Amino acid sequence: MSEEPNNSKDWEITEVLGNLKCSSTRCEDDLHCFLRNMRLKVNRGKSYRSLNCIECGKNLIDWNRIDMHNLKDKEYFIKCLNKEAWRYAVWNLKIPLYMEKKAAKLTIDEMRSKVIKILSNKINKKRSEIFRDSTQTPKGKDIIYLAQHATGTCCRRCIEEWYGINKEEIMNEEQINFLTEIIMTYINEKVTLKNQPKED
Ligand SMILES: [Zn+2]
Ligand SMILES: [Zn+2]
Repeated sequence: MSEEPNNSKDWEITEVLGNLKCSSTRCEDDLHCFLRNMRLKVNRGKSYRSLNCIECGKNLIDWNRIDMHNLKDKEYFIKCLNKEAWRYAVWNLKIPLYMEKKAAKLTIDEMRSKVIKILSNKINKKRSEIFRDSTQTPKGKDIIYLAQHATGTCCRRCIEEWYGINKEEIMNEEQINFLTEIIMTYINEKVTLKNQPKED
């Protein structure tokens, strides 16, 4: 008997998130969006990263500091991710029990290897070679997928936005490791892994 939850689990997440998507803004609540809309002609050829909020135009992120990819400064990075309406919602989501239980079966090392595998198999390709980039990461099923949405590692578009890595560039080991540690930060904050005492 397989315990693998199916796609229908997605509703548990999408229902809570309502009609929020990665391009949503709630600037009046200080929740913005820095993902450029490439369907607009004026944006053609530009990076997915918009230095200012696409809605209110405010400049709220120190992008040079973000682009250092310094794990010692990850608190600042996570604070910035939480200025985006969509990611804020995912950071503050209550994790469904099935997902907690599934995560509790893995040690931190096993979880990390799984993250690296997903990044290598589904994300680390040129955007033009991915079948419908931005749809490859579900929301339900696994804490890793949620972590990817929370940390901007769900697709090449969001990686270009938050990590400043060109969507057509194959990421090196250092970059993959950085993305992995940011994902692990979300996972460690949201669930308790096997043999892992929950930190305060
Ligand atoms: Zn805004
Ligand atoms: Zn994405």
